[in-house]
Amino acid sequence: QEEMSEPMPWFGMDIGGTLCKLVYFEPKDLSGCESLASEVETLRNIRRYLTKNSAYGKTGHRDIHLQMDNVKIKGISGTLHFIRFPTSEMKNFLALAKYKGMAKLVTTVCATGGGAYKFEEDFGKEVNMKLAKFDEFDSLLKGLQYIDKNNPSECYYWANPTEPSKCFKVNHDFSHPYPFLIVNIGSGVSVLAVYSATNYRRVSGTSIGGGTFLGLCCLLTGCNTFEEAIELAAEGDNTHVDKLVKDIYGGDYQRFGLPGDLVASSFSAFASFGQMNSREKRSKVSRQDLARATLVTITNNIGSIARMCATQEKIDRVVFIGNFLRVNPIAMKLLAYAMDYWSKGTMKALFLEHEGYFGAVGCLLQFHE
Ligand code: ADP
Repeated sequence: QEEMSEPMPWFGMDIGGTLCKLVYFEPKDLSGCESLASEVETLRNIRRYLTKNSAYGKTGHRDIHLQMDNVKIKGISGTLHFIRFPTSEMKNFLALAKYKGMAKLVTTVCATGGGAYKFEEDFGKEVNMKLAKFDEFDSLLKGLQYIDKNNPSECYYWANPTEPSKCFKVNHDFSHPYPFLIVNIGSGVSVLAVYSATNYRRVSGTSIGGGTFLGLCCLLTGCNTFEEAIELAAEGDNTHVDKLVKDIYGGDYQRFGLPGDLVASSFSAFASFGQMNSREKRSKVSRQDLARATLVTITNNIGSIARMCATQEKIDRVVFIGNFLRVNPIAMKLLAYAMDYWSKGTMKALFLEHEGYFGAVGCLLQFHE
């Protein structure tokens, strides 16, 4: 494998606190990229390996619905594949890569996220792979711009978020995006103000994010996965858990514009979990209610921070991303409603289909700059 000292740039990895996101670019026409015959053979092997689901073990998933065909990286046409697995499985992932012979085929992987540092030694020792490391926010923005440009239905918003029967996704043209706020909801939350393709600032963040939701939900309900937590929440009612405005005022608190049934429309409590000091109320509450209350509490807190940042930066478009929003329409609709309601219609919540994968794509792209 000596002739392949040239690093092979087809993998981008974003190794986060909870999930590892892996993006693989599969070139379509191998004759166009001036590769050595041995590299073409290598590519065929990688393709064969990665399009079989056994490649990912029990805990890995390829998000086939997100796959992007006919995209170009550095003039080469190909397909982008999107794969994720729990970061806690990293050691097993490396063992599997070694066992399947991947380690001999790939010499360099582009990487970002904290795990690019944490696991760098393991990549070298276990599978003799080098990591080309890139900054996670640079990567995030590069990936976001690239994917939005290549997917006309990438960006959307939720119409009528207050009326479940009339609430639906609407495509949004994000071709002139600046300035905008990014709220990245991963294990924790980062807020970036983006003024141009290269000019951005991390303006805020909170440690109360997707990791908090999942951790608290597991503690309170005994559930074990994110999917289970979301399913429970979908069937629960947070008004059995939260203290509402009307519980305290007996009606609206008009002076501050707080409607009494604030939580009946389920987007903000006067005091989240405020009823749970009562033994009687606790005895009546269900796992579903607790999951819903946890989801609503975390989401509203993030929405509130997002709104304050947007006001401070005088920005009216707020893009919510990160895997907390995966299979999570409740949180998205809540954010959409809260942004609209509390800003009196001046701010807009936007969402992106490839919500958790921008960092992984972006670090791959940066390799080619
Ligand atoms: P990070 O880079 O910190 O790992 P992500 O953007 O990948 O952040 O989001 C992680 C969060 O996404 C978790 O805290 C959890 O709330 C949510 N999530 C969505 N799907 C899963 C999953 N399959 N396993 C674990 N967490 C998930």
